[in-house]
Amino acid sequence: MIIQRLDELAAQIDIPLEILQRKTLNSDFKLKVPMHFAQQIEKGNLDDPLLRQILPSIEEAQTAVGFSQDPVGDLKANPTESLLHKYEGRALLITSPQCDIHCRYCFRRHFPYEQAKKRHWQQALELLATDSSIHEIILSGGDPLTLSEAGLIDLLHQLEQIPHLETLRIHSRTPVVAPNRANMKNWLAVLNASRFNKVLVVHCNHPNELSDETHQTFQLYRDVGVTLLNQCVLLKGVNDSAGTLKRLSKKLFSQGVLPYYCHLLDRVEGAAHFEVDTTPTWQIFETLRKELPGYLVPKLVREIAGEPYKTPIYENADT
Ligand SMILES: *Cc1c(COP(=O)(O)O)cnc(C)c1O
Ligand code: SF4
Repeated sequence: MIIQRLDELAAQIDIPLEILQRKTLNSDFKLKVPMHFAQQIEKGNLDDPLLRQILPSIEEAQTAVGFSQDPVGDLKANPTESLLHKYEGRALLITSPQCDIHCRYCFRRHFPYEQAKKRHWQQALELLATDSSIHEIILSGGDPLTLSEAGLIDLLHQLEQIPHLETLRIHSRTPVVAPNRANMKNWLAVLNASRFNKVLVVHCNHPNELSDETHQTFQLYRDVGVTLLNQCVLLKGVNDSAGTLKRLSKKLFSQGVLPYYCHLLDRVEGAAHFEVDTTPTWQIFETLRKELPGYLVPKLVREIAGEPYKTPIYENADT
């Protein structure tokens, strides 16, 4: 079940509707949150770090210098195509226009997804087949695991026909926010039989997002030979402390997932209130490097339009 009405959310998290209403605005990018994620929100807490990720807040009306509708240049580069080939050896397929959840900080909130419909797949698959420099296909979105199980299986079979593809990577927030939905028996069996190297990059920003259900779903993917990684976004009021990120890394590891990237916020219109200042960012990462084994420290990166890879952010660099 997915919550899309403010009164349903208010009832679930035990906050009077009037109080919630005073904090929210109407947005074209609507409230959308799966029940599992809503259940992880602490009841009665207006400042809950999970609630902050999904509530259409009045703060979104603020405009800020440097925040635009297309911060990573995807719209400019490729307004209607479903295949993004920005980095060497890897290509990204916009597999589904939908997500189970609407994350308020998302850079894709202004993306014209209606234009990246399935009819473009055929074209994308043909392009992939003709470019033998591509060895890894990344299913992204939106969220690929919002596709039907039959659709996913069909896509995987078509990709397997392309001989130079070696690795299948899936970028999905579904296993975290709606773990039962990612539990598709036939899909898992097809993955298990696949010739591909398999990677699932989930997206979890706060340890409270993880539950017994996420653990079970991660385990199902591990059981069919999938390597699990996590990416998060550094978000003010959500995970902008060394303590929280430390707990996140440790809890992910205890559920069989290694941290991969921590993204600096993409400067998308409506998300300026999530940006963390530079100095605290260094302090947080300095502490993480001191207090965690190297394999539990995510790489701090930012996507800069036109760069050949996700740009690592080092101290003293101009961000
Ligand atoms: C992030 C991204 C990738 C993957 O980059 P990695 O550094 O390999 O994780 C590939 N293609 C596009 C268009 C991307 O935005
Ligand atoms: S799941 Fe990912 S793509 Fe979808 S809204 Fe959240 S951050 Fe954006």
